[in-house]
Amino acid sequence: MKNRTCPNCDYKYSLKEYLKKPFWKGAFSHWKCVNCGRKLTTSISRRWILAVVGAAPAVLTPYLAEFLMSAEFSPLVSWVSAVIIFFVWAVAIFSLEVFVLSEGNPEEAGSQ
Ligand SMILES: [Zn+2]
Repeated sequence: MKNRTCPNCDYKYSLKEYLKKPFWKGAFSHWKCVNCGRKLTTSISRRWILAVVGAAPAVLTPYLAEFLMSAEFSPLVSWVSAVIIFFVWAVAIFSLEVFVLSEGNPEEAGSQ
């Protein structure tokens, strides 16, 4: 399975496109492929793994902030940097997300 790729048309989403749309979708929602219009959703099992890996460093954020403060950065700069580093990490992890075809008839929007 390729990450960030439409399973129907093989269209590879750039990180920017991914952050614009699927990233903000809940695990049970779906969206239309920008290239072929097929309904897609994210792989739930994959998203769980990514959520665990992506969220893990959150517990380290205070330590990172403390470390930066000990390096004589101001508390504000330390905390903002720690949060930004964590956010970049989370985005990097979630960009490994896998798309799957949504259940149901691909033509369901059309009339019969
Ligand atoms: Zn597609």
